[in-house]
Amino acid sequence: AAQVENPILKSLNAAQRRAVTSNAPTVAILAGPGSGKTHTLTSRVVWLVEQTGYKPSDIVVATFTVKAAREMKERIGKILGSECERKIVLGTFHSIARRYLSAYGQHIGLDPKFGIADDGDSRAIIQRICKRHNFNIDPGFARAWISKNKAKGHSTEPVSNKKQPENPSLNECYREYQEHLERSNLLDYDDLLVRCVELLRTYPACVSNIQSVLIDEYQDTNGIQYDLMKLFAQARQRITIVGDPDQSIYGWRSAEIRNLYRLLRDYPETDEISLEENYRSSQSILDVSLTVIQQDKKRYQKVLLPVHTRGTKPVLRMLKSSAAEGDWIVSEIRRAITMFGNMLSYEDVAILLRSASLSRNIESALGKAGLAYRMIGGHKFYERKEIKVLLDYLRVIYQPENNDAIARIINVPRRGIGDTTIKRLVEEAEQHKMSLWSLLRKHCQGSRKAATKILPKMEQRLNTELIRLIVNLQSQAQQITDNTQQSLVSLIEKLLSQLDFKKHLESEYLEDHEQRWQNVQEFLSLANDFVRDSANVDEELLPEIENVDQAKDDSILGRFLANVALASDAQKNDDGVEKRPLITISTIHAAKGLEWPIVFVPAVYAGSIPHSRAEDLDEERRLLYVAMTRAQALLYLSCPLYGSQGMGTKVELSPFVSPFASTAFAKHGASFNRPILEGVAKILGRELPSEKAIFDKIPSMFALEDNLFPVDPIDTRDAEDSGGPEGLRSKGPKRQRFNCQGYG
Ligand code: ATP
Ligand code: MG
Repeated sequence: AAQVENPILKSLNAAQRRAVTSNAPTVAILAGPGSGKTHTLTSRVVWLVEQTGYKPSDIVVATFTVKAAREMKERIGKILGSECERKIVLGTFHSIARRYLSAYGQHIGLDPKFGIADDGDSRAIIQRICKRHNFNIDPGFARAWISKNKAKGHSTEPVSNKKQPENPSLNECYREYQEHLERSNLLDYDDLLVRCVELLRTYPACVSNIQSVLIDEYQDTNGIQYDLMKLFAQARQRITIVGDPDQSIYGWRSAEIRNLYRLLRDYPETDEISLEENYRSSQSILDVSLTVIQQDKKRYQKVLLPVHTRGTKPVLRMLKSSAAEGDWIVSEIRRAITMFGNMLSYEDVAILLRSASLSRNIESALGKAGLAYRMIGGHKFYERKEIKVLLDYLRVIYQPENNDAIARIINVPRRGIGDTTIKRLVEEAEQHKMSLWSLLRKHCQGSRKAATKILPKMEQRLNTELIRLIVNLQSQAQQITDNTQQSLVSLIEKLLSQLDFKKHLESEYLEDHEQRWQNVQEFLSLANDFVRDSANVDEELLPEIENVDQAKDDSILGRFLANVALASDAQKNDDGVEKRPLITISTIHAAKGLEWPIVFVPAVYAGSIPHSRAEDLDEERRLLYVAMTRAQALLYLSCPLYGSQGMGTKVELSPFVSPFASTAFAKHGASFNRPILEGVAKILGRELPSEKAIFDKIPSMFALEDNLFPVDPIDTRDAEDSGGPEGLRSKGPKRQRFNCQGYG
């Protein structure tokens, strides 16, 4: 009874309480998503400090992501005060290792001022080594291979096994890479862990104070992290782990589910506790998520019961194109927020992606709609350097007077024109009130010499590599008036080949030119989508255009650029200056352990999820399961008919959802009624606005009873055959439909 009085325990259920207060040296909490594992682990930290009297500095807590660490710290700080928050050793394994290595590294001969080589640095070093020796290995592959071997605790000795035949150049590369790091006093991510293991083995005194070690997301620890856990706990052998085998999604980074069995074997006294209630999601979200994970017949079955009401059915929507998918997401976001009379905000929305490169459709749709967002892990698409350069070229082709754009590309790719020369040229053009373009052009054609000195050799390169190239492409651009499918795309392709853009990326971006080239491909397919989606619009508008010449002027290139500019303009709001609520875009991997009221999972097609290059199908399924179980109240899956990878090839719905697509999901949009709205408010612990607040926004809402917010009956066929520009028209009889724009 005394326990129940304790404020830490008051909000917990019986199993959670047992986990928090257990006196067993080792506690393992294995339970499904949303069952309160992290919540319980945090409460246990508080309990250990308050009730057991451990000092905060004697507790080590490892989380999987930086964001999770921050959230946990905040909660602990709120209860125990900021002093405790500061002293507790809480962070990712890497950050904890770095902390110990800086403090005690000299005991293993480490210069405490070591630097850290991030993934990009590591790749660049490997790339140089491969180039120097003419090794025919992909640097990315070599990086992953080295990392795998380090994670498994192998030294730089030759490694071979059945799967990976011995490759002398790989081993040589590994050796040189390691030598380079040591010479430069650098540790890469793997070294942080490897050296920390070494430290704790040779100098156990530095962890002799540690009373308790607690680990979240245990299912994704790898071999070295397991060793670290044991070593941190070597003084008292008190360990608490929480995890869920169904959410193991880092196998590709050597995480080992086996670590669970290892723990139970190494610590037979372990108090195993399961949590069986899901506090996060509505019943229907939980049901459909479980249907996905239960396709894995080998998995260890756990009980996971909903505590919330059924709620609105999750939605699975097919759309014409990736662009239409983005627009649909925007309209559903607005509809949901409007429906709830602003009880929900953009802050409550997350869009979770299988791969970061899928973000561009989403970004441009949000940008077009003027919605601000933040990205977890990843650059914004249009802000990527390689994309900016291409856009600048297109801007100059479209409008050569654009001095800023041309100044940025004069020396990209490198043509031996220095920054000072460019600056002087810009000034000179301004002085004479002429465009930089005409100054350069006249100069190179000899009709007017620029006062700014340009070496004759450079002059010639400017003329052939920049001016003629642009003039040529301009004439090609002018011929694009018929909106034939490939027009805009072929213009960009020509630009790429004439600039030898791939080679440019290779020489400028040693470490990640492949990713950048991939982005360029995405850009091409963005242009392709734009042409396809706007073809219908033009057909519609054609009869109304009186002045045909004017119509020609409004070329597809111009509209494309405007579209991009609008999309990227809205993105600028994401520098934290403006305090608008932001939509979150994240990879699924980076969303682990987090939750949002509204979750979208786009691009649910075979090739995206499961990913075409994935080796472990079960892991891909778990990934989808992780994504779906982030949702508290509203879950939306979507799939374009044409994938965004490559040049818009037709795709199939992911096999993880296709078997029950027609029964488990709503097809068009979420439907809401009074009990649903109340259920959502309850899940989120918020207060539903008065009926009047909702009623005022959506006048006829209460007249429609069960399906208060019907959407058009659109199916794939409609979208494919005739569905207008955004796939929003239907062949079926018109039903009353709310247009969310009217309420936006
Ligand atoms: P995941 O596997 O996704 O990491 P988890 O098991 O760590 O999930 P938590 O994030 O700890 O789950 O909890 C999910 C949600 O449920 C949180 O919003 C948390 O505050 C809430 N919650 C946990 N336990 C309870 C409880 N006993 N009563 C009410 N809400 C709870
Ligand atoms: Mg958690």
